[in-house]
Amino acid sequence: MARSYVAEARRRGLGRRRDRIGPIVERLAREHADATIALRFRSDVELLISVMLSAQTTDVNVNRVTERLFEKYRRPEDYLAVPPEELEQDIFATGFYRQKTKSIRGAMRVLLEEFDGEVPRRLDDLLRLPGVARKTANVVAAELGHAQGIVVDTHVRRLSQRLGLTRNDDPVRIERDLQRVVPRADWARFPHLLIWHGRRICDARRPRCDDCVLFDLCPAARPPEALL
Ligand code: SF4
Repeated sequence: MARSYVAEARRRGLGRRRDRIGPIVERLAREHADATIALRFRSDVELLISVMLSAQTTDVNVNRVTERLFEKYRRPEDYLAVPPEELEQDIFATGFYRQKTKSIRGAMRVLLEEFDGEVPRRLDDLLRLPGVARKTANVVAAELGHAQGIVVDTHVRRLSQRLGLTRNDDPVRIERDLQRVVPRADWARFPHLLIWHGRRICDARRPRCDDCVLFDLCPAARPPEALL
């Protein structure tokens, strides 16, 4: 169980989660107006493939690989038309290339067989695609304008805990806690805001609290000397 900043928020008199979430979203949106998905794609299928490839690697790395990949593979059928070894080579640089090849081919097969080659919008349908777990499904659904959950990655987890929005450590429970306080209209952009804030300000090891727009709303806020 993570250290509970939920109790710390109460101790510091910062107010309830429901009351703090509005200003948190508002300030982060102002601070990170450019916060969007960093993966590059031109179609729903490319989005799905990019997100599947992004497991255990950086978005920059995925973009480098997909620049060529998406020139060669344009439709779901194309991923099944080559021997698996060829696709493995083409995505090698993203790591875990054997497993990812298996997942991508499996997902493309189900897309063609059950969804007319189109990426479904419903989370339950996305979760039926091989190799698509909850996080991937949430990212894809949100990008397609149909957020049905809240993406929880390492940044979202850390910041949600520090901001006292959850006392849980498990991504599924964190998502459930966030769904209770974050307005539904913000489910798609909220993770992007936390991810960019995590990258730019609220670093895992050295959060820059003195530069943070959430300083007075955050139960984990520390003066600079406490970080040394
Ligand atoms: S005040 Fe510090 S711990 Fe809280 S969100 Fe900002 S950088 Fe992170």
